[in-house]
Amino acid sequence: MSPTAAVKAVPQTKQTVDVLVPVALDQAYSYRVPAGMELAPGDIVTVPLGARGECTGVVWGEGSARPGLDNKLKDVVYRHDIPPLKAELREFVDWVAKYTLTSRGTVLRMALRMGELGPGRERVGVRKAGPAPARMTPARARAVALFADGLVRAKGDAAKEAGVSAGVIDGLIDEGTLETVVLAPEPVALPPDPDFMTPNFSAAQKAAADELRAQVTGGGFAAILIDGVTGSGKTEVYFEAVAEIVRQKKQCLILMPEIALTAQFLDRFAARFGVRPAEWHSQLSPRKRARTWAGVAANEVQVVVGARSALYLPYAALGLIVVDEEHDAAYKQEDGARYHARDMAVVRGRISNIPIVLSSATPSVETEVNARRGRYARLHLPERFGGQHLPAVEAIDMRGGGPPKGRFIAPRLAEAVRDTLGKNEQALLFLNRRGFAPLTLCRECGHRMHCPNCDAWLVDHRFKRRLVCHHCGFATPPPEKCPKCEATDSFVACGPGVERLEQEAHELFPDARILVLSSDMVESMERLQQELEDVAEHRFDIVIGTQLVAKGHNFPKLNLVGIVDADLGLGNGDPRASERTFQLLHQVVGRAGRSEGFGQGFLQTHQPEHPVMRALISGDRKAFYDTEIEARERTHYPPFGRLAGLLVTANTRHEAEGYGRALAASAPRDDDVRVLGPAEAPVAVVRGRHRFRLLVKSPRNYDLSGYLRDWLAAAPKRRGNVKLEIDVDPQSFY
Ligand code: ADP
Ligand code: ZN
Repeated sequence: MSPTAAVKAVPQTKQTVDVLVPVALDQAYSYRVPAGMELAPGDIVTVPLGARGECTGVVWGEGSARPGLDNKLKDVVYRHDIPPLKAELREFVDWVAKYTLTSRGTVLRMALRMGELGPGRERVGVRKAGPAPARMTPARARAVALFADGLVRAKGDAAKEAGVSAGVIDGLIDEGTLETVVLAPEPVALPPDPDFMTPNFSAAQKAAADELRAQVTGGGFAAILIDGVTGSGKTEVYFEAVAEIVRQKKQCLILMPEIALTAQFLDRFAARFGVRPAEWHSQLSPRKRARTWAGVAANEVQVVVGARSALYLPYAALGLIVVDEEHDAAYKQEDGARYHARDMAVVRGRISNIPIVLSSATPSVETEVNARRGRYARLHLPERFGGQHLPAVEAIDMRGGGPPKGRFIAPRLAEAVRDTLGKNEQALLFLNRRGFAPLTLCRECGHRMHCPNCDAWLVDHRFKRRLVCHHCGFATPPPEKCPKCEATDSFVACGPGVERLEQEAHELFPDARILVLSSDMVESMERLQQELEDVAEHRFDIVIGTQLVAKGHNFPKLNLVGIVDADLGLGNGDPRASERTFQLLHQVVGRAGRSEGFGQGFLQTHQPEHPVMRALISGDRKAFYDTEIEARERTHYPPFGRLAGLLVTANTRHEAEGYGRALAASAPRDDDVRVLGPAEAPVAVVRGRHRFRLLVKSPRNYDLSGYLRDWLAAAPKRRGNVKLEIDVDPQSFY
């Protein structure tokens, strides 16, 4: 993956410009530059655009049309007074678009999410201005007394402080006792202090931090993997690189796979740097968004912590990108532009010629191979900080040692939980399945409750009293009687979800305080933060959770982790099933024993001899990677070969399959490329759309995007409702 050449510079005599607009178009359109307007590439402009009226776009290059010859050209309306998008960001947009076969306008849209353009609402404060009012009331007296000190206060704050309504303050302004003043805008983020706190590093941490600092100080592109066990202090170590960049007055982007992880992180950052960093994710208010965007463009914001879309911010002086939990599948965006934020971070690092730090306890196989081959530097943190041990992991063979029928917690695990509770410590029961039961069937006729729109069973969510489809969101109250045989009270729940586990845990441990954490039960981000804090503060004894609890959190009292179904993610036909399962379970088990006492992990499995289970039990991570890398190499799967997924969907099976066949038949012949399929997708119908998949395989150093572009340019036309989605480097295969 190497960046393409930079956009051509525009000569001085510019009469037309090409403007890229943030809509699903690949092409930049030519506009006339009106007299008196000066435009250069990167300038943000408003242009007329068809029936849409006007639209904000970016000057992408010199105009390709000649104004004298084409009098249909329209004029640029105006140029915004905001810093232009730098060449490196424009080049990045072009690169992502070309690589992922997404239109450039769609990618540009991510770079232009600047919220409300133009000046924000003014902040107004109130202060003392004149003598006390003629008519005095007790409320007015309190407000007058408050403002006697001459300080400026926001109106709402003052009203609260004086215990009066805002109307009382307004009244005093009318009387001339108080006056309003315009306040300077609140900064989005204060400058971090690189020396606010100096950590006390262990020898291994210090060695890693020194080396990292040296790499970062040198500048230039370099990819560095911080490979450290859970709890080894990876964050503390990469903070040293961040501090270095802050000292150089440059900017730093820290990518996180999920916004749920950022809250705890913001506090940790503040403990090290004295202030919180700026945040960037989809849930920011338009105003916050606008100010953050502008602050980043003006180099007023030095550190951004964000989700993948933060890659597209207009950094004035980007100096470092950190990708935390680099192996996390959430880095892949699956709609709009399908890109992998970790891979694109490396691309952005190359284009901007800056270092990039990847951090993980369980690196992706791609990154592990890059580190083994020396393409990425590796900093190793083999031990937990503070002398804590990694948890001891044991398998519970469900073929002999399983629980009674209809139960899911084996006696051995129940006993371990009891011991843990007896020591006044916490236990986590992990099951990556939301709801009560994944399948509901009729005892009388065997009918299975099925989604009307999808090729999927309905999941029983008892807490919400709904049967829910996890693919399309269809939800229905559980029916009174079987829709097929009309028997009543005949439904049985098959298999466990976290809600069912909660029921069983209540019966097994009646005195324990139990909390279920699962994304569908999270009412709000604040509520989730509170619950996570409650767990950290030991206000619960047992946590039952989905992958929501797998990552990042520090629970000091948690010393036991029981994986209720360790086999769940294996054998679903996904080429990354082993890697994913290993990473997830390693991460979850790694929650145990981080602070004091001994951590313990249990894997309930039907295949204790599976390489993933063996690696988890022996703690031999290297053995797992060796096996997995060898298998990938043998089968030419990534990173030893390249993949692209093509998904054809249509309202009928016939149309989807028909177009899939025609598409496959039109694939250009190339000895390097294999086109597999069309095959009916593992989930054959979603939201009423029938799905067929093609998989394209090529060698590693092959321009697969180029091949796909040529192919699709000449592919048969899609008719009617047939849709085609292209996924380069696919992560999901359902
Ligand atoms: P990782 O990201 O490798 O799982 P963290 O960076 O989260 O590890 O560190 C684990 C815990 O150890 C955190 O609570 C962190 O504050 C603490 N820690 C790590 N290194 C140090 C250190 N040098 N001094 C004090 N606390 C540390
Ligand atoms: Zn459905």
